[in-house]
Amino acid sequence: MPAHPAANSETSLPRVLLTGGAGYLGSHTYVALREAGFEPVIVDNFSNSDPAVLQRLEQLTGQPVLCEPGDVGQTAWLSGVLQRHRVRAVIHFAGLKAVGESVQQPLRYYRTNVAGLLSLLEAMQGTTCRQLVFSSSATVYGEPASAPVNEDAPCAPQSPYAHSKWVGEQMLNALGVSEPSWQMGVLRYFNPVGAHPSGLIGEDPCDLPNNLMPLVSQVAVGRRSRLQVFGKDYATPDGTGVRDYVHVCDLAQGHVAAVQALLAGTPSFTLNLGTGRGSSVLELIRAFERASGRRIEFSFAARRPGDVATYFADVSRAREVLGWQATRGLDQMCRDAWHWQAGNPLGYRSGAPASAELGTHARQPVHRPPAGLQALPAMRA
Ligand code: NAD
Ligand code: UDP
Repeated sequence: MPAHPAANSETSLPRVLLTGGAGYLGSHTYVALREAGFEPVIVDNFSNSDPAVLQRLEQLTGQPVLCEPGDVGQTAWLSGVLQRHRVRAVIHFAGLKAVGESVQQPLRYYRTNVAGLLSLLEAMQGTTCRQLVFSSSATVYGEPASAPVNEDAPCAPQSPYAHSKWVGEQMLNALGVSEPSWQMGVLRYFNPVGAHPSGLIGEDPCDLPNNLMPLVSQVAVGRRSRLQVFGKDYATPDGTGVRDYVHVCDLAQGHVAAVQALLAGTPSFTLNLGTGRGSSVLELIRAFERASGRRIEFSFAARRPGDVATYFADVSRAREVLGWQATRGLDQMCRDAWHWQAGNPLGYRSGAPASAELGTHARQPVHRPPAGLQALPAMRA
């Protein structure tokens, strides 16, 4: 069911299907694709996102949003969407992403992440589209022997979530061997953080966040009183864990570069997307305090089971293959995360955007409530 009256209209812009396009990474990639001259089409079941994001995307881009509400597990329906929109390439973001939850509910993770990808591949087989970018994760490496981690490091996934991503990668490899016409870009993300500088879109966890940046933001805005810092005696400069935080807008541009490379005929690739630079928990907290002018209360707690001391990417291959590299640093990641959080303390549930910079980014609002979306909140988990 088309979500927007313009959904079937003819366009000369190449269309890219974004499964999970209403989510955190998908919404930022939507904007970057628009800026690069593509016409994105969103498929999302809104199990972990709010339909309000569609209105924000219309405000940001000044263009109607094409959204097909539905589940990637519905193969025949998905194949129809691909054909109806004459999709040139697909970016597959739709999936579940919480490591701890995957240990509690492994079958749900395999169904969504593995069976969902299988359904998409079968749907694409019914069309001429053979260009696919797949959201993988640095968690496929497990505990790396050393950092930086390059793409040839052995994979040793430690959770059903990480394993589901690794199985997805193996499916793509096998398909590429049996049908060489497929071009697939596997992107292994490190730690995506931050938000669009407009403050209109950002990370909006439906449940209790597990990741550091959304927790820090929520402490800063007063939704939580303090943060626990897991471990202070790691073999790192200040004793706290070191990770490769990468701005979500850099990541979005990495996806655009990946789509452009595939459409230009680049053979399949597997690439890390990160900055190549590690930051500690305390460094991130201090940067967020500078960005927000707020004090982040924290206390030290025991190490979190399964955490490693230091984890950051070797990003040289992404530079070679895509000509892409991250340009935004930790201060900007924190500034943009804070701008989003301060303007939307309850995420998209905060109501109308309160962004100070809204006027500089928004053109005439063109949103019309997409047909069929009214029923969607009931689908949320
Ligand atoms: P997100 O939860 O914000 O977005 C995922 C979107 O997919 C949501 O809008 C959700 O409603 C939708 N979705 C889920 N199951 C679906 C289904 N069966 N059919 C249709 N839509 C469905 O997550 P995100 O942070 O944007 O992550 C996107 C992808 O990147 C995921 O596959 C995730 O595993 C991967 N990834 C994320 C991170 C991270 O830290 N954010 C790190 C590594 C990998
Ligand atoms: N972390 C923390 N307190 C929290 C959440 C995370 O100290 O409440 C630390 C965690 O131990 C790690 C870093 O922050 O060193 C990043 O954790 P996150 O879960 O965001 O990413 P991941 O560990 O999955 O790379």
